Amino acid sequence: MPSSEGASSSASPPPSFASLGLIDPLLKALDQVNFKQPTEIQSQALPSALLGRDIIGVAETGSGKTAAFALPILQKLWEEPKGLFACILAPTRELAYQISQQFESLGSAMGVRCLVLVGGVDRMPQAVALAKRPHIIVATPGRLNDHLQNTKGFSLRSLKFLVLDEADRLLDMDFGPDIDQILKVIPKERTTYLFSATMTTKVAKLQRASLSNPVRVEVSSKYQTVSTLLQYYLFIPLAQKDVHLVYLVNSLASNSIILFTRTVHDAQRLSIVLRTLGFPAVPLHGQLSQSQRLGALGKFKSGGRNILVATDVASRHVLHSGFMGPTDHHYRGLDLPSVDVVINFDIPSHSKDYIHRVGRTARAGRSGKSVTIVTQYDVELIQRIETVIAKKMELWPTDEEEVALLRERVEEAGRVAINELKEEARFNEGRKRRREDRGSKDDRDRDDDVVEAGGVPKKRGKARH
Ligand code: AMP
Repeated sequence: MPSSEGASSSASPPPSFASLGLIDPLLKALDQVNFKQPTEIQSQALPSALLGRDIIGVAETGSGKTAAFALPILQKLWEEPKGLFACILAPTRELAYQISQQFESLGSAMGVRCLVLVGGVDRMPQAVALAKRPHIIVATPGRLNDHLQNTKGFSLRSLKFLVLDEADRLLDMDFGPDIDQILKVIPKERTTYLFSATMTTKVAKLQRASLSNPVRVEVSSKYQTVSTLLQYYLFIPLAQKDVHLVYLVNSLASNSIILFTRTVHDAQRLSIVLRTLGFPAVPLHGQLSQSQRLGALGKFKSGGRNILVATDVASRHVLHSGFMGPTDHHYRGLDLPSVDVVINFDIPSHSKDYIHRVGRTARAGRSGKSVTIVTQYDVELIQRIETVIAKKMELWPTDEEEVALLRERVEEAGRVAINELKEEARFNEGRKRRREDRGSKDDRDRDDDVVEAGGVPKKRGKARH
């Protein structure tokens, strides 16, 4: 932790998109979305992809992998804009939408038509949209199969590209049989890209079943943090966490911030503390319903709230819980496009969680900051993290006089928060009790109906004995 270390060794400057051989409409679109230089995975994958090779990309979300496969597909589509052109399989609904958005923005100059086919929504509008002949389909495998079997006139016979995105997660979520089914009905003559954060034996098997003579490209971000991320720590006694947090948030007020807490209670409490002191904060944790979580994320993304107070669990589950299977704990994190700062109110006990958390900032070559609050009990944990990331964090400068000036107001806000949470718990308890009372009364009524209607008691619900 003490002593500093410079940014990681400087590599040779990356190539430009133009030098990689991309055509003008794509260069214009890249300019519009402000992608100035290719990311590492893009500069590695694009040359071979533009030559028509199959690609295996070992890279995580955040590396720029979507554009790495979208750009060569769009370039080819520009050359022969015929039929249903490409199909991208993704493990979650949210990821599918993100991919589709990226195709639409990069393909804006060529009028590309994209369609997302995911579960949890009505099939009919999807079938209608399929009839309008999209160029690109981004789908979760289950729903795609469903349409292949049940939507008249729909097939993948003209397909030129198949992309398996986050292949390890596709397989973890038991989409293997669906993928096998899809592989059976698409042309053998096609280009295939497979992207995965990890190369497991299952992924290797899928690779053999779906790719031909692929080029392998890899960026290893797994146990690394990027050099554009400035990582700080704040060393303070446990009892002074709240006031230092407020001081920190105050000095970073113009930034978008994700604040990570270990417990749901702290996520709720700190959101209220911050709001009471005039900072726009919104909580995101595992005790919110799926629609509340998406609502929180929406508010944050639209800039209405610039501090997201999240637990690890919420950040892993938010994007798809409720509509994917029980194995979705493999999710690697939120894709929040423009987060300036990550604050760890509690230091994560696993280094991997630290890397996931701070990976919410400094994405794709941009700069970002992380500040981790460290107390007298956390010294060993931060040293372990520093060993894993092979970097030393810098001490965040603190003006103790300013902190002292904040103390009283923060303590008062803390009391407000505790009262508000107690009140809410009482209200929820009362509501639960009323619902239970009503529920048992409804059961009695229903059972009575059954008896009256049939003359003899029938078993339904909680039958009366
Ligand atoms: P991905 O790994 O595809 O999810 O991309 C992560 C983020 O990086 C997304 O928000 C992209 O919009 C962004 N991105 C991808 N490529 C670039 C680039 N070359 N320059 C700047 N941002 C990029």
